[in-house]
Amino acid sequence: MGQVDLVIRGGTVVDGSGGAPRIADVAIDKGLIVEVGHVSAQGREEIDATGLLVTPGWVDIHTHYDGQVTWDRRMTPSSIHGSTTVIMGNCGVGFAPVRKTDHDTLIRLMEGVEDIPGAALHEGLSWEWESFADYLDAIEKVPHDIDVVTQVPHGALRVYVMGERGAKREPATEAEIAEMKRLTRDAIKAGAIGFSTTRTMVHRTADGDLTPTVGAADAEMIAIAEGLREAGAGVLQWVSDFREFEHEFDLVEKLVEVSGRPLSFSMVQADVVPNQWRDLMARLDKAADAGLPIKAQVQGRPVGLMLGLQGSVHPFVTRPSYQKIAHLPLAERVAIMLEPVFREKLLAEAPEAGHPFVNSLAGAYHKMFDLGDPPNYEPAPEESIAARAKATGENPDAIVYDILTANGGTGFLFFPLHNYTEFNLDNTLTMMRNPNTLFGLSDGGAHVGAICDVSVPTYMLTHWCRDRTRGERLDLPFVVKSQTRDTAEAVGLLDRGLIAPGMKADVNVIDFERLQLRPPHMVYDLPSGARRLMQEADGYVATICSGEVIYRNGEHTGALPGKLVRGHKAAPVSRAAE
Ligand SMILES: [Zn+2]
Repeated sequence: MGQVDLVIRGGTVVDGSGGAPRIADVAIDKGLIVEVGHVSAQGREEIDATGLLVTPGWVDIHTHYDGQVTWDRRMTPSSIHGSTTVIMGNCGVGFAPVRKTDHDTLIRLMEGVEDIPGAALHEGLSWEWESFADYLDAIEKVPHDIDVVTQVPHGALRVYVMGERGAKREPATEAEIAEMKRLTRDAIKAGAIGFSTTRTMVHRTADGDLTPTVGAADAEMIAIAEGLREAGAGVLQWVSDFREFEHEFDLVEKLVEVSGRPLSFSMVQADVVPNQWRDLMARLDKAADAGLPIKAQVQGRPVGLMLGLQGSVHPFVTRPSYQKIAHLPLAERVAIMLEPVFREKLLAEAPEAGHPFVNSLAGAYHKMFDLGDPPNYEPAPEESIAARAKATGENPDAIVYDILTANGGTGFLFFPLHNYTEFNLDNTLTMMRNPNTLFGLSDGGAHVGAICDVSVPTYMLTHWCRDRTRGERLDLPFVVKSQTRDTAEAVGLLDRGLIAPGMKADVNVIDFERLQLRPPHMVYDLPSGARRLMQEADGYVATICSGEVIYRNGEHTGALPGKLVRGHKAAPVSRAAE
């Protein structure tokens, strides 16, 4: 071998297989890894990775870039956290198939379920598609920084087939069910990697209604599963409260049996049903014993709300004095809030009734924390606002008020919504170690006014492999495998997620000692100037997609090698023969 495109020299390779780290060179040519070991060929470009980690690019199976992918070439924040493949179209929401008359319905659905500003979607979406295949063509026309993969969302499908009746959750007729089955099959054949649905009461449209797919009849779900079977491909993605627990899990199993395809569902520890995850894991283990490919998507961090003056919600949103200034630009709001008279008045007020969630925050100071810099996502109970108030005799409202108004009002309080019932991450550790779970739930591109868990792939390395002090840590090879090879295999992308000859050259070069999350902050760069939470990290020396360096020390190089991936990808011939 004379010359190749790129050689990453002398790095500590954690290859995604789960095997021990080893010092090796990685040669890349024409978008593929061609050699791992001692590489004698020269690279047209070389990266000295001495003392650095070399891993596959992360494969994030749970994102919501369905809108952003159509107007933005960069899939940030995922791509600045080392993800080189993102799977979107999750949780039953998305923008195809769609009729001209239903654009607004799908925007209201996405805005409500995923907290993506409707104004941004209205301005950003070009709607140059009707069928799911048209939508794929529209995505494919635009180059991106990383690879994008999508699924056909049940919400859009149901509204497309049933119109208003679908949106209102009416039962589908036999003919409509047959049509949903046909369209699912065709979407998979056109290149969707799966089908997604939501059945949770938590997901609401922007008007507060339940989503179109909540309560969809078993017959409808089974017909859609038959559509996947007919296509001979695809995965199922599922969100449910598992209220009727046994029936719901029976249905999950039935869909996997009927379709012959794998299914994954979201799993968190919610405070209201703190033991449900254990019941789910027991059924997962049983299903695995029966040979059914069912997995739970879990996250190694609390699902964390960021409460702040720039965000969707904070504890004072319903105080009358705040409501009077809520419409003002941030700087003006903060200036008013810093006036002692205003502060005293607001703190003495009772919240307005009728906002149960917001008002419950004021009673949840035991579960609210100053996120800090560097951000601390596993704070001890004695660090809570309530504990601090108790220790100092201060009014907890006042502590919160001062944190929110500090630094020009840009700070955030951390409210661990899920996965934090016991005030530590030991249960999520148990979830992650179960062989029937997958790393997921980053929700990249979504909940942009209140959640920024898209940085979790970075956090998995910093916290779980290096910094955790409140319990056991995880091995680096396990964490790398869990967010590369395992997630890639889960959706049938066998051409990536491993540093080995023949594999797609998606690679991170990481300064592990320096790897660090910065605190999340608000930016106003969505179409129409709408806001979204952004979070950067230091320590990603290079991120490479299809053999091209796309980010160097956190800066975009301008390269856009990312492509739409249509459907499953076979393992490279060189590996298949092994
Ligand atoms: Zn989701």
